[in-house]
Amino acid sequence: MKICVIGTGYVGLVAGTCFAETGNDVICMDVDQKKIALLEKGKVPIYEPVLQELIQRNLQEERIRFTTDLSWAVQNSLVVFIAVGTPENEDGSSDLGHVMEAVRSVAKAMDGYKIVVIKSTVPVGTADSVLEEVHSLTRFQVDVVSNPEFLKEGAAIEDFMKPDRVVIGADEVRAVEIIKELYAPFTLTGAPLLVMDSRSAEMTKYASNSMLACRISFMNEMANLCEHVGADIQWVRQGIATDRRIGPAFLFPGLGYGGSCFPKDIKALLSVAEEHHYPLKLIQAAQEVNELQKQVIVEKILKFYSSELAGRLEELKRSPKRKKEGEKPANIDQGAELPKDYSYFLSLDAEQLPDMAFDAEQQKLGSLSLDKREKGGSGTKPLKGKTFAVWGLSFKPKTDDMREAPSRTVIGQLLKLGAHVQVYDPEAMKEARKIFGKKVRYARNNYEALKDADALVLVTEWNVFRNPNFDRIKSLLKYPIIFDGRNQYSPGEMRELGFLYFGIGRQPEI
Ligand code: NAD
Repeated sequence: MKICVIGTGYVGLVAGTCFAETGNDVICMDVDQKKIALLEKGKVPIYEPVLQELIQRNLQEERIRFTTDLSWAVQNSLVVFIAVGTPENEDGSSDLGHVMEAVRSVAKAMDGYKIVVIKSTVPVGTADSVLEEVHSLTRFQVDVVSNPEFLKEGAAIEDFMKPDRVVIGADEVRAVEIIKELYAPFTLTGAPLLVMDSRSAEMTKYASNSMLACRISFMNEMANLCEHVGADIQWVRQGIATDRRIGPAFLFPGLGYGGSCFPKDIKALLSVAEEHHYPLKLIQAAQEVNELQKQVIVEKILKFYSSELAGRLEELKRSPKRKKEGEKPANIDQGAELPKDYSYFLSLDAEQLPDMAFDAEQQKLGSLSLDKREKGGSGTKPLKGKTFAVWGLSFKPKTDDMREAPSRTVIGQLLKLGAHVQVYDPEAMKEARKIFGKKVRYARNNYEALKDADALVLVTEWNVFRNPNFDRIKSLLKYPIIFDGRNQYSPGEMRELGFLYFGIGRQPEI
């Protein structure tokens, strides 16, 4: 089948490639000339496992082509996928500017019957508006289909090739039959292909993301409460995940959800609900919990460095086995209020920091015209003079995407609090440079990031961080302290190895 995909981002590129891989003639179109030039050479502008190999093979076998010429792409296709971005407006609603611009261009380029498939995540009712818009611009017949995408970055090819389900929202049987044919190779294993009206299809995508966001926030709240009551969320998780009514997926506590989808889709749904005077209280709460969760690790850092233990670091370093198994941990009051001065730093949007050379950071920060409040009232930044190694920057493993990544909040806050930050991520270093500029130091590998740092802060759970050489970590860090934002390490093992260990939803090992 001849198809084109408008927008070659994470979704468009994966969809186009997978359709080519199943034998279709695919044209991928984008307005970004640099991206298209790279893709034409078989180079992929994003990191997604397996994607590059598939693109190269399909380029070689001439099943995929890349272009900036939308008219040519449309005129050589029966099915036109719209996979452009739908960012959020300032009020949280979905910005349909790119979608409608692409739709208008498609309508003007049409030279016969086309099926326009909306793959971008769009608010309920968009397919109807798109149909109206296209009808107003062309005399040719058109069917509009809503086909939300459920792939996960980091496993995008796998998810597209072996979907849990395919959702098709359409009213016209002829369009449904053609789209079914296109998806047949991916549903051979029995995955359901659900045909419904377009509004229900559009709603399904938001409902799905909201449910997952609720699970994450639910687990994070349970984890935080575990810390207060002396329970361990890892046990609690197993206890509830084995209930078949609940299941194990998306029940890992951490630093909150991020990425290009959940945060913006949740806001867009809340905005639609508000428009219809039906506030979604549960989803609103999930979003609020998530915002707070992004800063729990920095709060732990602050609480630790304000505790009496921080003054005994040299002593703790010398006597690694501080307590026996089963013994109560030394008391860092998890529920303690942070000193008032600190809340100011935590509330700031850290990326507003001016760009500054790493080595001169402290001096330059001092020379910024900070008023008394900006200096934290007392005039000192609480983490001044401390250096933190941050492992993991992408919003989750196996992607270089840093959109709304928790690392941005964590690093931003550490910088605001006066700390130096040394970072490493297996794939997101290029993205990180665009975001943090010279505000942080970029390490060539995870061990280099540790050199002379006061502590390790694990933010994204890449495989390569799962089983590191702890002796090497210890020898490189100034003090053996780990703040584990993803519960990657075993507290018992950390105790044996002589680390001070702070996880999420479990008691610290001190
Ligand atoms: P992206 O930002 O990675 O890519 C969007 C692409 O569209 C860019 O390359 C941009 O240059 C191009 N573009 C913008 N306007 C255009 C136009 N008028 N004509 C042609 N190209 C144009 O976005 P993404 O992450 O691929 O997401 C695309 C859509 O899919 C969004 O609605 C998103 O919510 C949804 N979605 C994303 C994911 C994900 O994991 N990224 C998963 C499911 C659904």
